[in-house]
Parts: sequence; structure tokens; C-alpha cells
Amino acid sequence: MDQERVLREVFGHDRFRPLQKKAVEASVTGRDLVMVLPTGGGKSLCYQLPALMREGVTVVVSPLLALMHDQVRALKLQGVAAEMLGSMQSPEERAETLRKLERGEVKLLYVAPERLLSPAFEGILARLPVAGFVIDEAHCVSEWGHEFRDDYRRLGFLKERWPDVPVSAFTATATPEVEEDIVRQLRLREPVRLRGSVTRENLFIRAEPRVGDGKAQLKAFLETFANESGIVYTFTRNAAENVAAWLQREGIDAVAYHAGLEASMRQAAYHAFVHDEVKVVVATVAFGMGIDKPDIRFVVHMSMPKTLENYYQEIGRAGRDGLPCETLLLYSAADAAQRASLLEQLEEGPYKQSAWEKLEKMTGFCRGEGCRHAALAAYFGEEGEACETRCDNCTATEREKSDITEAARKFLSALYRTGQRFGKGHLIDILRGAKTQKIEQFGHDRLTVYGIGKELSKAQWEAVVERLMELGALRRGEHRNLCITPAGVAVLKGETSVTIRSERMQVREKKPRPLRTPVSDMGYDQAIFDKLRALRREIAAKEGVPAYMVFGDRSLMEMASSLPESEEAMLKIGGVGRKKMERYGEAFLQVIKECADGGMQ
Ligand code: ADP
Repeated sequence: MDQERVLREVFGHDRFRPLQKKAVEASVTGRDLVMVLPTGGGKSLCYQLPALMREGVTVVVSPLLALMHDQVRALKLQGVAAEMLGSMQSPEERAETLRKLERGEVKLLYVAPERLLSPAFEGILARLPVAGFVIDEAHCVSEWGHEFRDDYRRLGFLKERWPDVPVSAFTATATPEVEEDIVRQLRLREPVRLRGSVTRENLFIRAEPRVGDGKAQLKAFLETFANESGIVYTFTRNAAENVAAWLQREGIDAVAYHAGLEASMRQAAYHAFVHDEVKVVVATVAFGMGIDKPDIRFVVHMSMPKTLENYYQEIGRAGRDGLPCETLLLYSAADAAQRASLLEQLEEGPYKQSAWEKLEKMTGFCRGEGCRHAALAAYFGEEGEACETRCDNCTATEREKSDITEAARKFLSALYRTGQRFGKGHLIDILRGAKTQKIEQFGHDRLTVYGIGKELSKAQWEAVVERLMELGALRRGEHRNLCITPAGVAVLKGETSVTIRSERMQVREKKPRPLRTPVSDMGYDQAIFDKLRALRREIAAKEGVPAYMVFGDRSLMEMASSLPESEEAMLKIGGVGRKKMERYGEAFLQVIKECADGGMQ
């Protein structure tokens, strides 16, 4: 069979996306490959399809067992000979998989890195025709990345042991530096390099200062997502428990997930989320890596993530199906201070330096007033254009901006008069006329600037300082003191003015919720969609698989829009391959027919 036919018959898609075609070509011609493509870009197809076209078994290394399990199940539903070897299986199941392998009945074998690295497994593989190795979540090999795993680092041995077997590496997030590291660590040989744009067209990105504990903001946000799934990220395990319990009390269907829970509880939470039995998971970073659920409609961060890579990866879990979804990041100056204190504890060296830079970029992103998508793209080494419609900053043109030139000049003046030797806390105290020991000790209450800034609260002054940092009017000195830059001098002299988004000066006020983007502008019949969804739920429950594995939302929307009447018409719907048509097609056709007949009466 040719590639296009496999694409259509097995995966149910009409055509390759541009980079998929190149990736498939690379693999079928035996080249090494490194592909950086955002979540939802369609990476899995890039190794699953070539696996079906090559002699022998393709071995896929993936970091999390539960996810492998889901992937293998989904593949089997599509009629693909996929298996996994992992500790979750019974000895009998493992033995059966090994027998199938020996008989050449497995095209795709999923394994965890630690298993691949075991001598026993190496012995098994040595007896098999291995078509290729696939390293999923390949950024885990890099110490510069955000999810470094020691066992991934050792995967370089594959090229040593099987020099002629092609290796393909896939990740959704890699700065150019991390990409280099992947190539080096995995010892790829002149790999084909494919890099998609990091921009996720279907995400709406919003970041705003957290008011108090942020719960009021969270609740307002969730009110627009009555029946949809989403993730709320917290920084600590305690916060995850606390927010989940609070949401439950508020009548919102939520469950906590973090590494401190027993494995069985974690699995139960994961299972409930994937099977739509619970709508919201409140989790630490421990949740979600590689999660396959395609219809996650929102991701909220209750506080600032550690790095932009973390952030991008986490918001990336929303909308894998390409339908619109929303993200909300709540941050505060306290978050930045807390992350900084964690960094202080690291050993001096290049790693610490790089961690500092990442933290500065993360805080810069939160405070930034430019396009969020473009800011993320720039971080990953890409030139991005302003999205204009898909982030809070671009859609904020209507929003009033406040002129803070006078406050900025007061601050810079205080900084100048105290010799640029102090940090912002002390300077704000001076401006607000506080009586502290430090002020007394240095006689700063005798300065002309003492007490000239009482009109602003401490939090508002912090916003002013943040804005000046962001505009490059201030920089940090060697001892965490603040210094004035040439751009700051221009402000001080009254040559340039300074504005800030008004909401940042209103940090104590609750903001009304902005309008929600519609889930889809695809013209489909909602009543039919709901019926199809009910049928899907019924089938999924009977078969014990997550609903999306039967058909994704997008497929159901297409059905509810084009109302197929025959098997051929059904096969034209995206995501309906031959196997799934055989398995479920008839039932869905029946419901569509009933709806159409009902509508005509
Ligand atoms: P990734 O692993 O890059 O996050 P997936 O492999 O999960 O992305 O694919 C994301 C979604 O895109 C899936 O729902 C998949 O069915 C769909 N998809 C992949 N390739 C195509 C294609 N060529 N045409 C239409 N849909 C596709």
C-alpha cells in the first residue's frame, strides 16, 4: 500500500500536513530524524505510519506507562498491530507480547526507557528485525530542557548497539539549544531536521495579576466551561489539594493530582479525567506529560510556572484536536520571589545561571505587554508576528492605558538620590513615607523624595517598578540593587513617557470575565451533535475506553454538519478509518438517519 492509502484507510485522514510528509519520507528512506512540532501538530502519525510500511518492528520509547497504555489501545482500535512492554502488565501478558514479537506480529512496540536499557530486553531485540527506534518526548534527554530524565540520557547507546537502525526523535518543546542537545545525546547521524512553528493557532492566551489567592478569578473563568474538560495547575501539592477541595465545595467537578498521592489514586484521577468522569484536574507539574486527551478545552495556572518551556508545554495540552480553547495564567510578584529563593539554593555554575535567565524570561512574559504568541515564539528562537486576535495583549487595544510617567520619575529620582545601592522594597518604603529601621539608619527620611508617593499602594509601586524593568529603564546591579539605564535617564529627564496597562495598577480590584471564544465556528447541528455524543459515551462505557478513542469531537462535529448517509460518505469524515467504520460506523449512521428522518416529519 502506498503512504496516502495507509493514511486514509488506517488513520482516516485525507492528506498529510506539510511536515508530516517530510517526516514520513525521512523515516521510510532510513534517515535519522529530529522533529520539533507543537502539541496537536500530528507527531504520532510521523512514526506510526512509517512503522506500518517498514519491515520489522519499530520500537517507541515513551516516558510514561499509563500513556503508552492508552496509545496502544487507541492504535489497536484502528487495527494497528501495536503492543507495549511495561511493569503494568502481568507476566502472562508480557509473555504473550514476547511471543507475538518473535512471530513478527508486532509493528509498533512501546517501551519505557528503563526497560529498553535492560540487558534482558537488549537480548530480545537482538533476535528481532528492528526497523527503527522512536524517542518520544525527546527533550527529556537534555539537561537544558525542563524535564530531564537520567534514563533518557543513556539512550545514546542505541546508536552504538544498532548503528544502522534509524532513530527518530520527537518533541513539542525544544529551544534550538535543546534541539542540538537531542542530536548530540542520541548521536543522530546527519538527521533530517523538521521544526514546525511553535504557535498554536487555536489557543487564546491570557495572563493577569493574581488577586489574593486567585480563586475568584478561577471561578469566574470556569463558569464559561460548564461541560468541558480542563487542567488547573498549581505550584505545590498542598495548593492542588486545597483548590480541588474548594472547587468541589463550589459544586465544580474536580479532583487533585500530584506526585505525593498514592499511585492508585493518581491512576484513578487520570482515568476519571480521560474518561470524562471528572471535568477538572487540579494538578502539579506531575500531571499531563504526553497526555493524549484531545478535547482539553482550558488550562489555568494558579501561579507562575518555573520556566516558559514548562508553561508552553502545559498550555499545549489544551486543544490537541485543533478546536479553540483558552488559557489563563495568574501571577504575582510573590511567585517570582519564591522561585528566586529556590534558585538561590542551587550550586553556583552554568546551570544556575541558565535557571536565572529562564526565570527572568518567565517573569518578563507575565508582565509583558506585547503579543503573547510572539513572545513565546521568540523564546523558542522563532520570529513570530503579533496574533492580533488570540491573546489578551493583542485584544487589549481598546483597554485604557494609564500614564505612569510621574510615578516613574518619582521612583527613578528616589533611586538616584540613594546612590543606586538599594532594592525596590526600600525605595518603595521611602516613597510611601514608611518608618523603618533602615530608613532611619540611612537618614532617608530627610530626602526630598521621602513620602512623595503615598498616593500609590505598595502593590501599585511594584507594578511601576516591573514596568520600568520591562521597558529597560532599570536593571539589576551586582548585589540585587537597582540601577538606572540610559532609557531610565530619558524618563527621569522627562524626555519619554511611560504607560502601563490599566489593569496592572488595579491589582486589588476584581476584573470582569472577558468574553469566551466559541468552541467551534464549524456550522453543525448542536442537537445531532449531542445525540452522537450520547451514543459515543454509551459505546465508550461498554468497551471501557475513553470517549475520544471512539471518535474525536471534531469527527462528531463533521458528522453533525455533513450528515453522511452511507458508508462511503462516513469514510470521508476526518478520523474515520476503515477499522473504526466497521466497528462503530453503522451505529452512528443509524443515529444520523433517525435525526434526519425526525427532522423531516
Ligand atoms: P501530537 O502528538 O503532535 O501532539 P497528535 O499526533 O496527537 O499530535 O495529533 C493531533 C491530532 O491531529 C489528532 O487528533 C490527529 O488525529 C490529528 N491529525 C494528525 N494528522 C492529521 C492529518 N494529516 N489530517 C487530519 N488530522 C490529523
